[in-house]
Amino acid sequence: CGIVGYIGDKNTQEILVDGLRKLEYRGYDSAGISVFTDSGLQIVKAQGRMANLESKLEQHPLIGRAGIGHTRWATHGKPSDVNSHPHTDEKQKFSVVHNGIIENYLELKDELIRSGIHFVSETDTEVIAHLVAREYEGDIVKAVQKAVTYMRGAFALGVLTEHEPDKLVAVRQASPLVIGVGEGENFIGSDIPAILKYTRNVYILNDGEMAVLTKDAVELMSIEGNFISREMIHVDWDA
Ligand code: GLU
Repeated sequence: CGIVGYIGDKNTQEILVDGLRKLEYRGYDSAGISVFTDSGLQIVKAQGRMANLESKLEQHPLIGRAGIGHTRWATHGKPSDVNSHPHTDEKQKFSVVHNGIIENYLELKDELIRSGIHFVSETDTEVIAHLVAREYEGDIVKAVQKAVTYMRGAFALGVLTEHEPDKLVAVRQASPLVIGVGEGENFIGSDIPAILKYTRNVYILNDGEMAVLTKDAVELMSIEGNFISREMIHVDWDA
């Protein structure tokens, strides 16, 4: 339902929680974040209101320089802690947040299970984390591009991997996603209000497009990997 992502030197957890709060008006049944910490990629998520997530984060704060967050409106799998996003692969090296529906997730899930992969959630989204992990050969952009070729349906994605902690990858296919451009920091959001407190400079992704963010740069490309140049939009309204 709602996506936010951050890469930069500020307080990642605070920016993600703040962004998710701005997306609450859209409705949700659970919320979660994943952050690169000194001890790797970590996930904290909880069914219910943002306050549930925030009280878990008080017990277990996530300190790091990149992260993704999600408010979920369940389509596949009941609202629960495990079904909340972000989702991860078996080795917990990749984190994924997803808005939308993977229509062919049952086929993909069966195939992954036959190859020996163990699923922990009932969601359609979890297949994405396992596919990206399976396709990873040292380049997260290529792995996401390859994974997406197997997926049918609507998806906006935010993807992080512990293997490349300086990158945040975003994909848009029939579910909205914007990129916020800052100074020494960059953002993703399913909606402009999620990031408007931090930047007014945005790129709007179109269907079939993706973005690769580092703290100092944003690259836009088609899912096939052709680079795109696009004018940045300056947002002059307030949320
Ligand atoms: N289909 C996904 C799920 O049920 C994402 C739902 C959403 O857009 O929040 O977990």
